[in-house]
Amino acid sequence: MSKFAGQHFAILGAGRSGLGAARLARLHGAEVTVMDEGGPEKIQAALDKQHAEGFRTLSGQAVRELVVKPGDFDLVILSPGLDAGWPLPKKFTDAGVPLTGELEFAFNLTDMALVGITGTNGKSTCTELIAHLFNACGKKSVPCGNHGMSLSEVVASGVSYDVLSLEISSFQLETIQNYRAKASLWLNFAPDHLDRYPGMEEYYAAKARIFENVTADDVAIVRAGETVDTGNARRMTFSAYGEEADWTYEGGRIHAKPEGVTFDVKSGLRGRHNMENVMAAMMACQVHGLTLAEMRPALQSYQVPAHRCELVRVLNGREFINDSKATNLHALEACIGSMERPIVLIAGGKDKGLDYSPLRSSLNGQVRAMVCIGEIAHSLKTMFEDLLPCQTAADMADAVQQAAQISQPGDSIILSPGTSSFDMYTGYGQRGEAFRSAVLSLN
Ligand code: ADP
Repeated sequence: MSKFAGQHFAILGAGRSGLGAARLARLHGAEVTVMDEGGPEKIQAALDKQHAEGFRTLSGQAVRELVVKPGDFDLVILSPGLDAGWPLPKKFTDAGVPLTGELEFAFNLTDMALVGITGTNGKSTCTELIAHLFNACGKKSVPCGNHGMSLSEVVASGVSYDVLSLEISSFQLETIQNYRAKASLWLNFAPDHLDRYPGMEEYYAAKARIFENVTADDVAIVRAGETVDTGNARRMTFSAYGEEADWTYEGGRIHAKPEGVTFDVKSGLRGRHNMENVMAAMMACQVHGLTLAEMRPALQSYQVPAHRCELVRVLNGREFINDSKATNLHALEACIGSMERPIVLIAGGKDKGLDYSPLRSSLNGQVRAMVCIGEIAHSLKTMFEDLLPCQTAADMADAVQQAAQISQPGDSIILSPGTSSFDMYTGYGQRGEAFRSAVLSLN
């Protein structure tokens, strides 16, 4: 394994992707320096955790002051959290060092079959569901990429899988060159990440690259109505909201037109949007040889991931639902749209520059009242208080208390923030747990 013997790679970012890439590069004989602008503790803790050996490391100030000269490195590998246009990666590209992304790097070092999954919402649910369906039906798979293990970690582990279920973010797609998969999923597209991209066009263009290298032997599984260019791939569509698709959903049943089959969906997933995830996942597994008959029972044993329209508790006739993973407006709308009861909505968080005015039509009628939290609490209140009662809360415990007080028996009280959590929490997981513990301490 000495494909890269005598070469020196710089790896930017000491997270799972960067450390996975470092280990993979070492396995193939490269000298590796892992760099992270965080402090030495961060990089050391990360390295200890990974039991990594044989890496050089550079952190904090030393990285910020680094001067890269032509010839210092043979390749620079970028973690998905970093933008190729940022000053650190630019030091390398300005010195003529070729740059690649972690996903592309690992892709070129494996022959394992892939399903690639992108979209604004539903990626993680689908990625886990696809891996579950394969495993339950006797094909070895693992959810990876932007979800769980990075692709580099999987490839470096030396474990062989029949099919990898690979979640891919727009950030990872920014740096692909050869990447392609036999089945590629485009779940949906809606505004998001405007704190990272100059505009929607750039976010869309990055995501659309999932189809850049597809061939006529590949299948593009796309939500009906999406106009994305899927190249030469065979295009298959799904919809839980209309009739014009290869696979459709109505009244608890999926209709697979090309197969001429209609069947009941039995799964713990709630809401129409999740039926789109189910259809897309089954279509992808079918491309890799699973039959509908074997997948249908496997759907039932799928464990629904936490923080996504998850029922936490029923108390005094009220359902408390944790949808903390709704970090954009599209997910929030999907959640509201999938509820049958009147809603008291807890929303808000970090200001990501998203436009919330389209929410007016979803709020109208279905949402009884709103409790606004976080950095954008006051602007949400101002935007919607002419439509429905809106109040602001100091923290999650206060928000849950207020929501419970306003609610009536038969209501759903939902945390579906519609934006990210970093103004108050380390991530959506911590925010969801704060909601859960506030709900569990109500009496
Ligand atoms: P991602 O990994 O793309 O963020 P998740 O599966 O974690 O996707 O779900 C994120 C949020 O989007 C959750 O609030 C979930 O309820 C919502 N969601 C999941 N699937 C869809 C879909 N197909 N369309 C719209 N919203 C969805």
